[in-house]
Amino acid sequence: MWDYFEADPSVGTSPLAQRARKERWASWSLRKACQSSYKRWMIEARKVMCSLPAKNLAKILSPAHAHLANLLAEIQSVSVAVINLEFEGKVLPLEGFGYLVPSSEPCQVLGVVFDSCTFPEHNHPGSETTRLTCMMGGAWFEELFGHPESVDSDHLLSIALATIEDHLKIKQKPIYSLVNIHRDCIPQYTVGHSSRLEQINKYIKKHSLPLFLLGSSYDGVSVNECIWNARKTVLALDR
Ligand SMILES: Cc1cc2nc3c(=O)[nH]c(=O)nc-3n(C[C@H](O)[C@H](O)[C@H](O)COP(=O)(O)OP(=O)(O)OC[C@H]3O[C@@H](n4cnc5c(N)ncnc54)[C@H](O)[C@@H]3O)c2cc1C
Repeated sequence: MWDYFEADPSVGTSPLAQRARKERWASWSLRKACQSSYKRWMIEARKVMCSLPAKNLAKILSPAHAHLANLLAEIQSVSVAVINLEFEGKVLPLEGFGYLVPSSEPCQVLGVVFDSCTFPEHNHPGSETTRLTCMMGGAWFEELFGHPESVDSDHLLSIALATIEDHLKIKQKPIYSLVNIHRDCIPQYTVGHSSRLEQINKYIKKHSLPLFLLGSSYDGVSVNECIWNARKTVLALDR
C-alpha cells in the first residue's frame, strides 16, 4: 500500500486513502496488496481465509502440516488457451451467451463465449463487429497441443477458426485475433475430489487450524460459486 502512495502521491489525498493510511490497512489494490504487506511486515491473525489455488497453498504451508500440504497438492490446475476474435459485422447465426462443447464430442474446443452479445457495452462505437472468445485445452491441453510453453499460437488460432466455421458457419477472416495461454489457471476436479476435501476438512478440524479455504479449488470453479462459498464462510464466522 505504501508503495502505491509513493508512486502516485495524489492517491493519498482521498478520504479513503487517508483512512487506509490511518488504520494501516494491509491491502490497497489487487496488484499491490499482497506484495506490499508481505514485503514490509508480518501480520498476526487469529483466522486466515485463504483463496490461493490449493497447490500454491500446499507450497507455503509449514512442514509441520505436510499431510495437509500433500492433500492440497493433489488438487491440480490445468492450462487453457484463450483465443479472442473479432469479425466485421454481425456474423453470429443467433444471439446468446455462447456454448460449451460436451466432452463426448470429438472437438478440440472447450467452448465459445459470444462476447459482443454478453457485453455489448464493450462493442466498437460506430462500427458493428462480432467478438468471440474461444477456449481450448484444459485437462487435455498437453494431449492435444503439446506443452503449453512450446505450443504454436498460429496452430491454436487455426483450430479456433476452423471450429467456429464448422459450428457457427462463420467463414470470414477475423479483423483482430489474440492468442493467450493461461498456465495452470483453473483447478481440475478429478475422481476422488470429494473424499480429498473430506480429508482436508477433517485435518483442519482435528488440528484446530484457524484456516478457511476459499476460492475455486474446492467447492466449485465458477465465479458465482467462489463468491457464494466465501459469503457462507464469512457469515458462519459471525455466529
Ligand atoms: C479461461 C477461463 C474462463 C472462465 N470463464 C468463466 C465464466 O464464464 N464464468 C464463471 O463463472 N467462471 C469462469 N471461469 C472460472 C473462474 O473465473 C475462476 O474459477 C475464478 O475466477 C477463480 O477465482 P479464485 O479467486 O479462486 O482464483 P484466481 O482468480 O485464480 O485467484 C487466485 C489468485 O491467487 C494469486 N496467487 C497464487 N499464488 C499466490 C501466492 N503464493 N501468493 C500470493 N498470491 C498468489 C494469483 O496470482 C491469483 O491472483 C473461467 C476460468 C478460466 C480460466
